[in-house]
Amino acid sequence: VPGVTEVRVGLMADKPKRRIVAVGSGKGGVGKSTLTANLAVALAGMGRKVGVVDADIYGPSQVMLLDPARGRPRAEGKTLIPVESEFGVRLLSMAQLIEGGKAIAWRGPMVGQALTQMMEADWGDADLILVDLPPGTGDVQLTMLQKFKPDGALIVTTPQDLALIDATRAIDLFAQAQIPVVGLVENMAGYICPHCGEGSDPFGRGGAEAAAATLGHAFLGRVPLDMAIRVASDTGQPPAANDSEQGRYFAGIAQKLTE
Ligand code: ADP
Repeated sequence: VPGVTEVRVGLMADKPKRRIVAVGSGKGGVGKSTLTANLAVALAGMGRKVGVVDADIYGPSQVMLLDPARGRPRAEGKTLIPVESEFGVRLLSMAQLIEGGKAIAWRGPMVGQALTQMMEADWGDADLILVDLPPGTGDVQLTMLQKFKPDGALIVTTPQDLALIDATRAIDLFAQAQIPVVGLVENMAGYICPHCGEGSDPFGRGGAEAAAATLGHAFLGRVPLDMAIRVASDTGQPPAANDSEQGRYFAGIAQKLTE
């Protein structure tokens, strides 16, 4: 095609340009931050140079998940320099800049400024930035979409109807901004009782895969509800950093993301 210098094979195929993938959900508590952190670690393990922007300004959790040592970003003039976490992921989060436990009671414009500072930081040779968005469709999402136009959006949901309806809203927001959805991930899908070994589906099963098919988006995989994931996350040891059963779920999704 005349004038086209770049052949796009897949969203994440090797490109000279840095890709920005926003990770969104309609609802809070569905595991968006956990997935973002573990995908970042898995992708870094696959040799990608990955940065994470914790855009969940009011409820930042990436420091706990990715940098238990709690490094503080440096600044050169007005430019922030992300912290390199022990898992090989570069990270910026409001939690690095604000005293722990203090509420972040900011209005929209300040939140927009914070997001801009993180997005315009010195990300060095990072070839992929994952942005952990707050849940829903508010100020941060709008600033993100309008100002930084991500290359793609990844949607996390639980299998249950309510979360799916909200996820569909989030998908619609990206569609309106013409941001391609790279795929859906179903989290908290299925639970194996550690005592009796029987499987059950506290939040239902298969809803996200069915929704992906209906909406014409890729389904990237599911992660079960597993206490080991919660415990590891709380202690700053992302399962994706280890060759564990839990780590392999995230590795599989990371692999699909790069295909
Ligand atoms: P969100 O970013 O969507 O608000 P989080 O990633 O903070 O959600 O997850 C909410 C809680 O659920 C956290 O305590 C996290 O450790 C836990 N969690 C997330 N995914 C799983 C899972 N697959 N199995 C067990 N616990 C999970």
